Amino acid sequence: MIQDNVKRILEDIRETAIKAGRNPEDITLVGVTKTVTAKEAQELMDAGVCTLGENRVQSLLDKYEVLKDAPTWHLIGHLQTNKVKYIADKVSMIHSVDSLKLAEEIDRQFEKTGRVAQILLQVNVSGEESKFGVTPEDAFRLAEQVSVLKHVSVQGLMTMAPIMENSSETRKVFSGLQKLSVDIGAKKYDNIYMRHLSMGMSGDYREAIMEGATLVRIGSALFI
Ligand SMILES: *Cc1c(COP(=O)(O)O)cnc(C)c1O
Repeated sequence: MIQDNVKRILEDIRETAIKAGRNPEDITLVGVTKTVTAKEAQELMDAGVCTLGENRVQSLLDKYEVLKDAPTWHLIGHLQTNKVKYIADKVSMIHSVDSLKLAEEIDRQFEKTGRVAQILLQVNVSGEESKFGVTPEDAFRLAEQVSVLKHVSVQGLMTMAPIMENSSETRKVFSGLQKLSVDIGAKKYDNIYMRHLSMGMSGDYREAIMEGATLVRIGSALFI
């Protein structure tokens, strides 16, 4: 079942990329395992999904106990400053950095591990109140401030689109993030690379791929 879902979604990602005139290999499926057990996460890996995303530190740690570093771990949800220390030696990317304070703590904790943290800045493109993330305007300042940190490397931007009436509204949110990444990239801040756009979930990954997503974070559609 999981295997069939993976096959179908990877094929869909491929087709959508080609429709968008993009190279399918530029898009990574991040399997979001927050609602499933380590056993199901293992099945996902067996089906070929090797990058796993968790939105909470505790659920990442629980699965890490079982799966260790067999998958590439991404932390995709809101991260509290006091929890960075638990994941610094485990995650390959943090998608959800939305404050200087958090970036500074990531810098401190990664320095101890001798690694450079790969992070994305989370932007609230739609302006919806309930979402985390900086405003598009504040993203410039955050990028500039983070650029001086030695153990943090910004690799791009992340957003979550609210539930929209129709797919063209959703695409506007994603194209907003894409344009922002071009504008931030043009500032040529030190140490800031706009290589990745983390956008699109089960319900809207096609729209995200049409607008340039390189990381699609898909959970529920893999486990139905
Ligand atoms: C849960 C979650 C996802 C995946 O959502 P689905 O709708 O289950 O695909 C993606 N990103 C974040 C930050 C999440 O918390």
